[in-house]
Amino acid sequence: MRQIIAGNWKMYGRLADVAAYTGAIKAAPAHVSLLICPPFILLDRFATALKGSSIALGAQDCHATPDGAHTGDIAAPMLAEAGATHVILGHSERRENHGETNAVVKAKAEAAQTAGLIPIICVGEAEAERNAGEAGHVVRTQLAHSLPENFTGIVAYEPVWAIGTGRTPAEADVTAMHAEIRAALIARLGADGQSINILYGGSVKPDNAARLLALPEVGGALVGGASLKAEDLLAIAAAAPRR
Ligand code: PEP
Repeated sequence: MRQIIAGNWKMYGRLADVAAYTGAIKAAPAHVSLLICPPFILLDRFATALKGSSIALGAQDCHATPDGAHTGDIAAPMLAEAGATHVILGHSERRENHGETNAVVKAKAEAAQTAGLIPIICVGEAEAERNAGEAGHVVRTQLAHSLPENFTGIVAYEPVWAIGTGRTPAEADVTAMHAEIRAALIARLGADGQSINILYGGSVKPDNAARLLALPEVGGALVGGASLKAEDLLAIAAAAPRR
């Protein structure tokens, strides 16, 4: 399975950064699929700059309805019009800061798929949940209730305590969780569950990418902080195994 290296710019970046960044990431190795998810306001500029390249463009959220009186929100068809092909949904920062429940994430994913976008559904346990031995249960529950019935997207396993902290789980824990997620996807979607990329996210950096990306059932990485520097994202992409 070809690995996907997805950069989540979160609420960082300015128009002035786009040209140099997109120019640099076009040198990404061909054995991975690269995807960049900038803030909404930069999508159009990224789409123009990436035209003709194989680098995909994604957003970081969408609304569950295609239009309506929802001040400050963005609808999935608008993202598609702006050039996005993917959308991150249910990131822990959305779940925590905006009270997004599994049901909300599922509704957004349905809207994304209807608009022709590929949803990247984020799941992951908090540190207290891991310490209590509940990580597997938490992630299975998030998967069961966040994924639409006809899910055709990507899953990102992002332990909340590893995001932006510089900490990563033990390799055995990543392997075990990715195996759990794969089993849940197959139980839910049959053979189609086998071909879904399961990304690992949480403090992926150039110096740990090779060992994280080599783990079984890791189908790529969702990269926050390190994706802001083109050279770091390129180093992570170069570290992906050729499977
Ligand atoms: C993220 O925002 O999805 C993320 C994984 O962030 P970081 O790489 O900075 O931990």
